[in-house]
Amino acid sequence: MLEIKNIHKSFGDNEILKGVDLAIDKGDVVVILGPSGSGKTTLLRCINFLEKADQGHATFGDIQVDFQHVKKKDVHAIRQRVAFVFQNYNLFTNKTALENVTEGLIIGRKIPKAQAVEIGKKALDKVGLSDKYDAYPSQLSGGQQQRVGIARAVALNPDIILFDEPTSALDPELVGEVLQVMKNIAAEGTTMLVVTHEMGFAKDVANRVIFMDGGVVVEEGSPHDIFVSPKEERTKKFLKRVI
Ligand code: ATP
Repeated sequence: MLEIKNIHKSFGDNEILKGVDLAIDKGDVVVILGPSGSGKTTLLRCINFLEKADQGHATFGDIQVDFQHVKKKDVHAIRQRVAFVFQNYNLFTNKTALENVTEGLIIGRKIPKAQAVEIGKKALDKVGLSDKYDAYPSQLSGGQQQRVGIARAVALNPDIILFDEPTSALDPELVGEVLQVMKNIAAEGTTMLVVTHEMGFAKDVANRVIFMDGGVVVEEGSPHDIFVSPKEERTKKFLKRVI
């Protein structure tokens, strides 16, 4: 469904992605682990064209992209299929929870407002916020705000949702509610690519785990492969530090 080949990205002289390959099938829940600065977020942002990759190819269903020569119409088409959940929620502070969710449907997808509101309410119900349609972000906890961020992604009915460290801005006691919502949508068969430091989520929910370090994929496999019998020294060392 989504295939990335040999993606490269530098910021100035600093090469962050050094030729990463990635393949995701429909229904996959793939977690990317790795030390700080290994390029996980950059990879996710390049996939959704929030950053411009320098080199590499991608296949999104029937769309083929050469990152050196990206066409505007392909970016537009791919953004219709890929949703993004940000570490810092990225909500409009002057809009209610429901308006945050419907904005992309009305403006981006050109869905009539009444229908967008219906879809938006369903998405907020799904993340446990049926009593918060009219609340502004400042009236919500961090966990609730991130659940609005997830509802916004779900409402778009994308082929895949990219999660960029969705719980790392949260107070520890709020992490669980967001992980539970992610677990629920994974159980519905949503295709997800998740950058996270939450090892429990990786073990329990992912069907594949990718370990990145220094801008490359060091090792990938099932959660059992990675957590119980990692092959690479770098993976073992990382896991020893974080578990
Ligand atoms: P973390 O777990 O800490 O979020 P990460 O693996 O997600 O780390 P990235 O956020 O992808 O790592 O960052 C990789 C490197 O790229 C870092 O050294 C960062 O400073 C650098 N970097 C990221 N974005 C930019 C940018 N816009 N301009 C310059 N350097 C950047």
